Amino acid sequence: MNMSNQRRFYIDGEWVDPVEPGDLEVINPATEKPVATISLGSAADINLAVDAARRAFESYATTTPADRLDLLQNILTIYKRRYDEMAELISLELGAPISMSQRSQAACGTGHLEGFLAAFEKLELRQQLENGDTLIREPVGVCGLITPWNWPVNQIALKVLPALAVGCTSVLKPSELTPLSAILYAEILHEAGVPQGVFNLVNGEGPIAGAALSRHPDVNMMSFTGSTRAGVAVTRDAAETVKKVTLELGGKSPNILFADADVEKAVKRGVFGVFYNSGQSCNAPTRMLVERSIYQNVLQIAKKTGESQQIGDPAEPGRHIGPVVSELQFDRIQSLINAGVDEGATVLVGGPGKPNGFDTGYYVRPTIFYDVNNDMRIAREEIFGPVLSIIPFENEDEAISIANDTPYGLAAYLETGDDEKAERVAGKLRAGQVYINGTECAYGSPFGGYKTSGLGREGGLFGLEDFLEIKAVSRP
Ligand code: NAD
Repeated sequence: MNMSNQRRFYIDGEWVDPVEPGDLEVINPATEKPVATISLGSAADINLAVDAARRAFESYATTTPADRLDLLQNILTIYKRRYDEMAELISLELGAPISMSQRSQAACGTGHLEGFLAAFEKLELRQQLENGDTLIREPVGVCGLITPWNWPVNQIALKVLPALAVGCTSVLKPSELTPLSAILYAEILHEAGVPQGVFNLVNGEGPIAGAALSRHPDVNMMSFTGSTRAGVAVTRDAAETVKKVTLELGGKSPNILFADADVEKAVKRGVFGVFYNSGQSCNAPTRMLVERSIYQNVLQIAKKTGESQQIGDPAEPGRHIGPVVSELQFDRIQSLINAGVDEGATVLVGGPGKPNGFDTGYYVRPTIFYDVNNDMRIAREEIFGPVLSIIPFENEDEAISIANDTPYGLAAYLETGDDEKAERVAGKLRAGQVYINGTECAYGSPFGGYKTSGLGREGGLFGLEDFLEIKAVSRP
């Protein structure tokens, strides 16, 4: 990343100074020390970026699919060249361990791009309807994109790439906690030849820069990922100008372990699945629902697995987990761990406070609660830290009922050796993704939630369609 770009925004194909200066230090969560200084944008910066995107839309919307495919291919080439740089920046700003950042975080940038390239081939922009009319899909217009810090490039790729692919122009406002990966992403797009004004980047805080984008009358669509609270704010702000809004919000995903599962493997997957990325994944399997007959066995395996989780410096290679992103998140997680204790859940592993030897950095003790009741706060609220709640159930119906008893509906996991049961239960779970026996969702599959987990789907063909308007043309 070019250091001189840190305090600048990318607007109309150039790196420009903010209208009014306003600094924010980017903190390395492992050291609690600043690693960069960025600028916080105002409504005036957002206005300039939206104006540029609006001007660029006129010509970009008329480019051919073949032109845009070439552009995506160029982005893939440049991204691959700058891949290591991306992995290092994500590790620095988020505290993601460098090996994991290399293997997973940065890999989302290539994985989703390949998923969209494949889906784009299948996208039908013009269709003849049986009634004689013609259906035409057209780019929705100028898109406001707001992304979180937990999988920074994953979210940027899931929004910027479909917008570019279908002919939309956009203004990205990434999380103020992880702006460095976004700056590098903008450099990659510039180098790949994205035309002037087609993509713009303004850093800043949600309630100021984010709200200015959501309210802007010249923005046609908002695509948001983050907390349900902020998603509701974006929806309200967008309502005045009747924008299309897509939301990818939180989750409290159930992981149902039936007695006929491969129990050892299932428990290990479930525990490590929650601790991965220090628990900061919206689809983490945070409620482990366990059939009563295997409950004691599961607790033993979970204890051994939980205690084996290594914690370490994100700069060091290895399979350890790092800190959580910020002091605010650390405090939120601590208050929920304390709520679990106060509400009567039993600590199996971890608990409140920092791990031994980690006084500096926002490190959380990987924690497992058991005998959790689904009404407790630790079973209902998204903790966004390495905290697992284990809940027993008596039979299939009760498992489904507890699984669905949540305001969220992002993902659901189930573990069973019975294929018919897997099919039956998957059909009854109110969630956007169901992962059976440890199989993860592939790049190109739709990702999104039921209920308060969101609106719309990201990735692949469905992710492209969300950025399109539909026109029906009738002729005599
Ligand atoms: P957040 O929702 O506040 O931040 C996400 C993005 O939204 C950031 O870019 C932020 O600047 C922006 N934002 C915040 N308020 C806004 C507003 N009023 N208008 C427009 N944009 C706004 O997330 P957070 O406070 O950093 O995290 C809190 C909780 O959110 C976490 O504990 C977790 O539960 C949840 N979360 C979920 C996801 C996810 O992927 N679903 C990601 C991050 C956080």
